[in-house]
Parts: sequence; C-alpha cells; structure tokens
Amino acid sequence: MSTLDSILKETRLFPPSDEFRHRATISGMAAYNDLCEQADSHYLSFWGDLAREQISWKKPFSRVLDDSNAPFFKWFDDGMLNVSYNCLDRHLALHANKLAIIFEADDGAVTRVTYAELHRRVCQFANGLKSLGLKRGDRIVVYMPMSIEAIVAMQACARIGAIHSVVFGGFSAKSLHERILDAGASAVITANEGLRGGKPVALKAVCDEALAHGDCDSVRHLVVYQRTNNGCSHWQDGRDIWWHKLTEGQPEQCEPEWMNAEDPLFILYTSGSTGKPKGIQHSTAGYLLGALNSFRWVFDIKPNDVFWCTADVGWITGHSYVCYGPLGNAATQVIFEGVPTYPDANRFWQMIERHKVSIFYTAPTAIRSLIKLGADLPKQHDLSSLRLLGTVGEPINPEAWIWYYETVGGSRCPIVDTWWQTETGSAMISPLPGAIATKPGSCTLPLPGIIADIVDESGAPVEPGKGGFLVIKKPFPSLLRTIWGDPERFKKTYFPEEFNGKYYLAGDSSHRDENGYFWIMGRIDDVLNVSGHRLGTMEIESALVANPLVAEAAVVGKPHEIKGEAVVAFVVLKQARPTGDDARKVVEALKNWVAHEIGKIAMPDDIRFGDNLPKTRSGKIMRRLLRAIARGEAITQDTSTLENPAILQQLQQPN
Ligand code: ATP
Ligand code: MG
Repeated sequence: MSTLDSILKETRLFPPSDEFRHRATISGMAAYNDLCEQADSHYLSFWGDLAREQISWKKPFSRVLDDSNAPFFKWFDDGMLNVSYNCLDRHLALHANKLAIIFEADDGAVTRVTYAELHRRVCQFANGLKSLGLKRGDRIVVYMPMSIEAIVAMQACARIGAIHSVVFGGFSAKSLHERILDAGASAVITANEGLRGGKPVALKAVCDEALAHGDCDSVRHLVVYQRTNNGCSHWQDGRDIWWHKLTEGQPEQCEPEWMNAEDPLFILYTSGSTGKPKGIQHSTAGYLLGALNSFRWVFDIKPNDVFWCTADVGWITGHSYVCYGPLGNAATQVIFEGVPTYPDANRFWQMIERHKVSIFYTAPTAIRSLIKLGADLPKQHDLSSLRLLGTVGEPINPEAWIWYYETVGGSRCPIVDTWWQTETGSAMISPLPGAIATKPGSCTLPLPGIIADIVDESGAPVEPGKGGFLVIKKPFPSLLRTIWGDPERFKKTYFPEEFNGKYYLAGDSSHRDENGYFWIMGRIDDVLNVSGHRLGTMEIESALVANPLVAEAAVVGKPHEIKGEAVVAFVVLKQARPTGDDARKVVEALKNWVAHEIGKIAMPDDIRFGDNLPKTRSGKIMRRLLRAIARGEAITQDTSTLENPAILQQLQQPN
C-alpha cells in the first residue's frame, strides 16, 4: 500500500472579501467551475482559444495538440511567433510609456524603465549578439546578478531565437562549468561583479574559472556587463567583450526571429533539492501561454498593479513571473538586486511602501526568516498598497501563513500558495484569489485545464484524506518537453511505466481534504515510514513550526528496530541555539508538543538544533543531506547546489 497517512488538521478558511471578488478577473466559484467544465468537456479548444487570445502569432497554428509520440507532446506546432515580440513590441502601441521595470539596487538606487526603453535596449543587445555571430538554436548561458540587464539578456536571446540557460549567480565555478558543458553553450553573458548585502560578488572571475575547467571550446564569447567600477582581473582578448561596447551604435530596431511553436525557448537546471540537476527544456509557445495565462489568473493582474516577485531570474519563478509573465501582460514590476536582510530586516517592507507594491510574491523560507528577524517590523511600515500576496517553493507552514496574512497583508489580502515546478513552467495548483477560499498550508485547487489527481502506486485515485503521488493526468501546454540531451531520463522520471507512461509524475506527495483541496505533504523521496504509517515531512514540520519557540524545522527518518523508521527533527529556534541542560529541556517540550498537536506517532525520537538548515541556493531545505546526518553516515552526495555547506558540520554535533 503506498498511500500516506495525514495527521495534521487545519480547518481555518479564508474566503476573498466581497470587494476583492467583485473586481477579480475570475470572480466567484461559479466562474471557476465554469472554466473547469469548459476544460473538461472541450480540452483542446479550451487551450486553443486561450492560445489565440493571449499570444500574438506571426502565423496561426492549425492544430492544438499532437500526442502521436507521447510523452513527447507538441502544442500549436505549426504556429509561428516570437516571445520577445509578445513581451515588448505588441505593447508599444498602447503602453510605450508605461513603466515596465522599477529596479532597486542593493544600495537603494532606483532606476525606472518604460516598455519603449526596454524594447530599445533589448533590440540593441540582440543586434550585438547577432554581430558576434550568435544565432537561432545556439545556447547562451546567462550568469547575471538581478538587474535590468539580466532581463534584457534573456529577452534578447528569445528575440534572436537563441536558447538561454540562466544559471543563478550564486553557483560555484564547478556548477557553472557542468551546466555550460551540458548545454553546449556558444556564449556566456555575465557581469564583472554583482552586489548583494553591500558586498561585491565575483561573477566574471567565476566564469573565467569555469571556462578554464576544460572542454569549454564551444564557448566563443563572454559578454561582460559592467555593474561596478572594479575592472576584471583577467581579460581574454577575442573572447571577452564589454556589454556597453557590444551595444554601442547598434540599431534600435531588431526584427524578431520567427520561431516555430515547439522550438526550445530555454533550458533551466532544477534547483537540486533531490539529486543531480536536470536540464529542463521548455518550448516557445506552450511555455509562453502558461506564463501569460497563469499570471493573469493567479495574480489577477490589473493595469495599475505594481507586481513584485522576489525570486531570482536563476529560478523558474524568475523566468515565468519576472521575465515572461509580467512583461507579456504589460505589467509594471519591481526588480530587486539585493537581499531581504540588508541593510536590515526592514528592507522588503520598506520597498513595498516605497514602490507602492500591490502584489507581492515570495518564498516560505524568506517569510520564516523575516519572522525570526522581526515579527513586528512590517507594522512599522505603510503596507496599505498591498492587495494580494503569494508564496512558492515549499509548502508554507500554517503558522507562517497566518503571520503573512495578518501582519503583512493586514488580514485584507488573499494569499495565493502556488504549487508548481521547474518542469511545469507555470503555476498548476493555486487559489484563484477572487474565487477560491484559502486554507493556511493548502495550495487549494488546480487551475482550470490542469487535471491533477492523487494516486497510489497502481495509478488508482486515493480516497480523500489519504496521501499518495501527485500526478497530472493530461498533457498541458507549459509542461517541459524533455530533459536536455536525455529523452530517456525524461520518460523514466516523469512518465513512468507504473502509470503506463500516461501520467505526469510530479515527485511530490499530497492528499486532498473533504473540499477537494490539495495539501502538499513533501517529496516522495522524503516520505517516512513509522510503525507502518507513511508520513510526509510537511505535517510534522508544520506542527513544530507552530510552537512559539520554533522558527524552522526539517524532519527525516532514520532506521529503527521496532518502528521501522524513527522521526529525527532538525530545528532552528527563534532564540539562540541551546546546549546542555537547556537543550534537553527544549527537546522534551517539543517532543510533547508534537505528540499533543498531531499524535504520538509523529513524535521525534531525536531533535537537533542548528543556527540554520542546509538549503539549496533557492532556499529549499535539502532533507537528503539531513537524512545522512541523522543516520550518522558520511555525506557523499551531490552538494553543488547547497547554499551553506558549513551548517552540515554544526548539525553533525550533538546538542
Ligand atoms: P530538484 O527537482 O532538482 O530536486 P526542486 O524540485 O527543488 O529541485 P523546483 O522545480 O524549483 O526544484 O521546485 C519544485 C518543487 O518545490 C515542487 O516539486 C515542490 O516539492 C516544491 N514546491 C513548490 N511550490 C510549492 C508549494 N506552493 N507548496 C508545496 N511545495 C512546493
Ligand atoms: Mg523537483
């Protein structure tokens, strides 16, 4: 039996206010249900109509879906379009002078760019790339700080039909090297340095090192945006060129390359929470439709909104909800170079106030750390411009949700807890904020057209309240097309034989409650088996986080003679890390707390305290490393995506 037991009961319900509902694009449950029914009864024309409405086509498509070579699906495949045209050119008639980007630098300096200006910059840079001989189908690695230029680089690649692969600027030379090799890149775009938290971050130097690692002969150009006044310690003539030199004198117009709908738009390596990163390959039209449409529905975007997604462009969230979704919808957005804690933990709240942000989208990890650093700080700022909040990246623990809702959102703003993945390209399960009442910790219901379900290992749906594998039963436009260069791994990982190769297997476990709401329980790989009960990580962690002493928690299993597995919890307290007798007291209190909150079955055998938890560079807890620590094993796994390696040593010590 592969179902999971759910033990956490969260019943608080938050319907949208009448005011929010009245103004919303999708207003009320009837409107949501109606769209779901349309998708159910006419699946292909549902997607076809959206694609015709929202995308500007150079040549219209005649067929919506080609599933003759499943799971290698093709959408709108004889249509032609350009993504950059859809994000920029088509807005110029009506929105040339509308702000596209409000950029706030690490030091607080603000730069504003209109759609006309952004279009000009993208065209000039695209012409620059072309002057280097870069062309359609070439892979270009983008290793940039958060900046207007990062967006320009991505849009320019899309404009000339080159496939970008953005690598987060925090990755090491080794990780960058692996990704450059895997993608077979012709060029790398970087900056001399980035600036984060008042400190320079070497970027060009990391590129030099990565390119010196060998086998990088395919890389002919390294384009360097000069972000700071410091020069570069190394300069390779013929290969290296300054951004400003490249764009100097370039024409301000650049005819877009008209792409086939199924041409790859980009490759993005997953964040690596569970293993070796995979090069997720996305298409041009299907991906664009996912980004455009979900942005409209989930964020309920209106012409006067100021949208701010805090994700870096190095992650899928920064692709779909910074680079493509907002620009494709002619929205105004804030882009931030720095970190939430610099110069202090007020930064996010100050920025919301300063730029009158109306929609704010961030990650649970940021929320938890800001609670720890100053739960009352938001109250010192005027956050009345906010009307909608969102989260992505991990399950949000109900207590953190409640804080976000009350303290940041003033109990006025719906929260969209959006479940999706690098692979799905756009939000899959999320409240539509003017329709669906929210529950803290639940991503609620699938978007219309997303046929999500929870099944056991035979592929049969599980009953409500039971956990199982989260699957999507029909192909949808923004789903990844393959793993770059590894179609077999794509098939095996995402369309496994157990489900006859028919369902997309997300790799997460979930259950549904009596309202049909989805609750993500954790990664399949992280499921615990305690005395025959299969438990997800999320519920035990949420029980711990609900304790007033606890800021963050991660649980894993370790072998136990009687129970099969015992629960081991790694906990970050709001106060300093306790030791000795103090630690023993807190351990006892937390064990009892969990037993009381959700039951003895989930009570940790062992609790360890740390100043932090091992996280990916995108801020997700890496439980596979904790599992090794809990078992007293050496860590032999891939740690290339780990943000804070030093923490492993601390967690290996007894309290
Ligand atoms: P890898 O696949 O390499 O292990 P990753 O899964 O962390 O990396 P992403 O694609 O960035 O890389 O993350 C997607 C995963 O993040 C989801 O599968 C899910 O586990 C988690 N996730 C994202 N949003 C939510 C959410 N709203 N609620 C719960 N979990 C979420
Ligand atoms: Mg994943």
